[in-house]
Amino acid sequence: MQHRADPPCRPPDPDRDGGFLCDAMLGRLARWLRAAGHDTLLAEGTETDRDLLARARAERRILLTRDRRFTQRQGAAGHVLLIEGGKIADQARDLKRRLGLDWLRAPFSRCMMDNARLRPATAAETAGRPDWVGAEGGGTRVLACPACGRSYWAGSHRRRMRQRLEAWNRDMPRSAPPQDQTGDVKG
Ligand SMILES: [Zn+2]
Repeated sequence: MQHRADPPCRPPDPDRDGGFLCDAMLGRLARWLRAAGHDTLLAEGTETDRDLLARARAERRILLTRDRRFTQRQGAAGHVLLIEGGKIADQARDLKRRLGLDWLRAPFSRCMMDNARLRPATAAETAGRPDWVGAEGGGTRVLACPACGRSYWAGSHRRRMRQRLEAWNRDMPRSAPPQDQTGDVKG
């Protein structure tokens, strides 16, 4: 016997809802959601299904899971979204399609490891960095995580990440002819 459809899941409203809670199997997706600026918690793997669902409901988070059992639990409807596909790009585009998720909501404003909002780094935190750090774009800020102390700055790695976020946001419909975009020239 097959289970046919997911329970309906109302698209989250970033202004009204509390963000996302990823199950422990979705660590990579959680980090990318944070990179895009979405408030995203990651389950530690020690919580029971019941606890996770209760937490999602209490905090008004959408529980993202790869485990179909979640969708069958009482109270799951409207709070749980089943993520299919193991590749990050497929998962990202799936969220774009189903929730209208904005992958460029506030890029690089949260720590990818712990979800804390980044703040400008202090002089002490940037001391010892190469000269180019913080200088890009006429003085791009270095940001720091108040929770773990990591610092983040513009560079080639972040540029590549941003390109992926932009690609996911475009989410070309399947029916669109491939490679047929003239594209805007970014200046
Ligand atoms: Zn951090």
